[in-house]
Order: sequence, then structure tokens, then C-alpha cells
Amino acid sequence: MLYKLFKTRNRIERMKKCTWVLPALLLLMGGVRSQTVEKEFTTSALKAMGAPNNPQVEVAWNRYYDWQEIGDICRRIAAAYPDLARFGSIGTSVQGKAIPLLTITNFKQGNPDRKPGMYIDGNIHSNEIQGGEVALYTAWYLTENYGRVDWLTDLVDHKVFYIVPTINPDARDHFIHQANNQHSPRTGLLPRDDDGDGLVDEDGYDDLDGDGNIVQMRKRDPNGRWVTDPEDPRLMIRAKPDQPGEYTLLGWEGFDNDGDGRVNEDGPGFYDPNRNWGWGWQPAYTQYGADQYPFSIPEDRAVADFVMAHPNIAGAQTYHNSGGMILRGPGTEEDIGTYNRRDVDVYDFLGELGEQMLPGYRYLVLYKDLYPAVGGELDWFYGAEGIFTFSNELWTAFNYYRGKETPEGQKASRQENLYRFDRLLLFKEGIVPWKRVNHPQYGEIEIGGVKKSWTRTPPSFMLEDLCHRNMAFTLFHAYYLPRLSVDSVRVQDLPGGLQQIDVIVKNSRVVPSRSYHEVRKDITPPDYIALAGKNGEVVAGFLVDNPYLNIAREQEHHPERLAVETIPGMGTVQVRWIVAGRGPYQVTVDSRKGGLVTTAIPE
Ligand SMILES: [Zn+2]
Repeated sequence: MLYKLFKTRNRIERMKKCTWVLPALLLLMGGVRSQTVEKEFTTSALKAMGAPNNPQVEVAWNRYYDWQEIGDICRRIAAAYPDLARFGSIGTSVQGKAIPLLTITNFKQGNPDRKPGMYIDGNIHSNEIQGGEVALYTAWYLTENYGRVDWLTDLVDHKVFYIVPTINPDARDHFIHQANNQHSPRTGLLPRDDDGDGLVDEDGYDDLDGDGNIVQMRKRDPNGRWVTDPEDPRLMIRAKPDQPGEYTLLGWEGFDNDGDGRVNEDGPGFYDPNRNWGWGWQPAYTQYGADQYPFSIPEDRAVADFVMAHPNIAGAQTYHNSGGMILRGPGTEEDIGTYNRRDVDVYDFLGELGEQMLPGYRYLVLYKDLYPAVGGELDWFYGAEGIFTFSNELWTAFNYYRGKETPEGQKASRQENLYRFDRLLLFKEGIVPWKRVNHPQYGEIEIGGVKKSWTRTPPSFMLEDLCHRNMAFTLFHAYYLPRLSVDSVRVQDLPGGLQQIDVIVKNSRVVPSRSYHEVRKDITPPDYIALAGKNGEVVAGFLVDNPYLNIAREQEHHPERLAVETIPGMGTVQVRWIVAGRGPYQVTVDSRKGGLVTTAIPE
């Protein structure tokens, strides 16, 4: 009996019945639209394509939210969609803030922790805040469009999303609420003595004018080597070799707080949360920012504990800024062998797909295309846990002029482009104009320069675009995580009251149920395909390597529960049982990352 054919025939029968019902109904309604057809406009508006229609949760995607607001948005999403979203936490930050977690799936269908999982986080580097908005947007978009957009509905039914908008809430809030530049703080807020004077965090930046932006300091100096740009006097450029200078630049706003002759040398932290993971970790004298030992940083450890407690996580995405990159590991050349060819094929497929959705972004390998780094999050995810993981460097200067370096026919430096963008599209809001202040050590100086809230993060009108495109990449990653099904069951009678049962299990997505790295290093248990039935006993079980040549390997122990290495992307595995007795039977496919599938074989 070919069970698959039987099912298909049933479906055709059902469809035949339906073909007359629908026209008859339409006739009865006299051409009036059915109530279930949704109008994509309200009394006052037509929805823009891609936006949810009448969203239950209104969120403005043109600003950056602090930890409290992120929590509020998560709570509102969970309250509006109790069957699709649950709000929780993966642990606690150094300062005692709950690290927010939104779990998104159809909770009414299946066990969420047995669905293939997609883990998403942002903001490991505190100043790289917009990863938080991309993650939140993803949760919002999935819930608001569930039941409206078939592709998304299917995704939320069959996959589970673990969304952690910020894994560094203390320093995210520091970036937003304290005086900073666009690069600070990168660290979390464990106190550290950076300059070895026995004091912690005693000499950071100082906001001399109290505007919340740490900008540049300059002092008039006929012997300095800096002058103002003739096109935009706000911009400092180097004097030409034979040109007299006008200014000396004195670095970021601040003074010598501890009287050691140095300025801004011991700010909050410092360590790099993305060099502290338990994969290839090296001490700080080898890897800058590594901190004391792997997972000495509590926020990193909270992520690792969460991932290990959720072995169904098969894909992961972490959001950074900036530069327009879709990064994969390895972080060092020594780790090339970890990323074996068959897994790299999967990475390449996804990365190249991402390049299509993200104009100006390039799919790159961390160690060779950006810089070598050990103890990074993405290498731990893949190296230690076998999870296909990307880090996106959000935002690229490409977006200022959409590919054109400058307006037609002009040559300009990066800084000149930035200042021109500020004049043409931000109407000079993006730069603090030079102003005089009295500095305790330098005397009368001027401060001015780029504000912290852009250049690494997009200006408001480009933020939703950034959120949407990066979300799309991550949703396709989730889509291509394994989707397992029992493709066919074939039962044949053998002499002596025996039956032979052949089962083909299929993975209809690109990502294998276990990465080849996992298989090779035995990181996770194998997938199991099991047969159970009250009236039958499994006498022998086989893995069918080649059904055409009838080559099969017997599994002598526990033949009813066959261990398979992986169910390949867009591929199948075939198993065979010899059974004494009769059905009905149940086939169970139990894969940590591929999910749990059961199918009944009728008598
Ligand atoms: Zn980063």
C-alpha cells in the first residue's frame, strides 16, 4: 500500500466536492463580497504594501527605545497576541535588569520547544542599538501579519522564534541616556580598572556642555595641522603639506578626572562582550577585550545557558553595526576546518540570498574579509552548538546616496559626504556646531562634531527600511531551517506473518536537521526514527543507503529506534523495519533541531 498516494487521492476527492460549493455560494450572495475578504483600507487610509492592516500594537519605527520601552513593547505584543507571543527573560544584567525575551510561535499548534528554533539577538555592543529595533520589528511584524500573510502564518505555525532585542540592557541605556559618542560604550557595565591605578571607571568622557553628545575638542593654534573645510566650515580637515594650520584637535570631549596626565583612559567597563565566548577564547593580552575567562560576562552566559536549554535552536542571527555586512565565521584562520564544505554550502546559499535583499551589504567571512577575532558569539553558536549563525553589520554609508558615493560628478571623502548629507537631508541637525567652552586643563577650547545618534545608526526615515530588509533575511533563514515530514510509507507482506515497512523521511528545506559539523564532532544526539505499535514487534531495523541497489545497514540494538546522522537539506532518508504482527503503527521522527513528527500507519 502506498500511503502517500492514498492521502493524495483523498485530497483530490475533497477538492472535487469543493469545486461546486464555492460558485454556488457566490451565486447565493448575489455578487456581494464575503465577510472574510479583508479591505486593506480604513475610513481614512489605504495601507502601504507590506504594512500590517490596522495593527493591534502601534509602534513608531523612527526612534530607538531604551530597556523600559523595549519591555513595554514586548508586553503589548504579548498582551495583544497571547496565542502567538510570550514575554519573558533569559536572565539578568550586571545592574539587575531582566534581559527581555519574546517567544513567537503558534502556541496552539504543537510543543513550541520541539519546533525548529530561530534565535535572534541585538545590541551585544551597547552602542550598536538598532539591532534591538530590528528584533522588535520582527516580533511585531510576525504577530501583526499572522493569519493575513500565508507565508508568515505557515512560518509561525512551524517554527519558533526566540527574540532577545538587547543582550546588553545596562549599557544600551547608558548609550541612550548618558553622554556618549557613536562608538561608546561598546562594553557592558561590569566595573573594570582599565589603567591599573586601583580605581574603576574613574576617567571617562565628560560632557562639557551637557548636551548628551560627546564630540570633538579643538583649540586655536597657528602651529596646529588642522584647518576648516572651505565647503563646510564645521568639518575639520588636515592642512595641505605646505599650508599653515589653524587648529589642534584634542580628542573626544573630556578632561583628566584623576590627575594622572591622561584623558578619558578609564571609562565604564571596558571589555568586549563579543570576545568573551567559550570558543577559541584567549586572554586579553592576546585578544583585546576578552575579559577574565570565557563567559565571565553575565549577559553572555545568560545567552549561552538559554541556548543550551533550547536544543531545538537550529539557526541564529545577531545584529551589530555598522558597515553593511552579512558575516559568518570563522573568526580565525585556524578555525577554517570547523566550517566544513557542506555546511558552508548552506551558509553561501543564505548569505547570497541576503545580498539580494540588502542592497549595499556584502556576504563576508569574518576572519578574512573583516578582521580576525576569537571568543566571538557567532563562532560559539556554530562551533560549540552546531547552529547556523550570521552576524549582520547593520547600516552602510552606501545608503546615504544609494550607491553613489556623492552627488553626480563630485569627489569627496567619507567625512565630506557625511557633512553634505547632514546639510541636504538633515538640515544641519546631525552635527553639533563648534562652540566655546572653558576646559579645566586646556583653557578656552571649542567643541563640536557629529552627534551620537547617527552614522552608525540610520537617520529616522531609513530605520524602518533597515528593520524590514534585515528581518526579511532572518525570516528566510528561519524558513530554510529543517521542515521534516514522513514522505511515504510502504508496507509489504512477507512469508511467516512478517511485514516489511519502508519509510522515507523528507526534509523540504535547505538546512540539514543536524549540521555536518555536529555530525562529525558528535555534538548532538542523532535523529531517531522509531516505529511503535501494540500488535507488532520489530524484529529487525535497517538504514537503507541505496534503495535502488537495495543496500541497507542493519542496526542490531534497539532496531525499533533507528539512529540517523542527519536528514539532509532538500533530501530524504529511508529506513526499513521487519515486523512480526500487524498494525496499526506509529512512526516518530525525533530530531532536536528538525522537530518532532509523528505519522500513523493504519492497519
Ligand atoms: Zn558589534
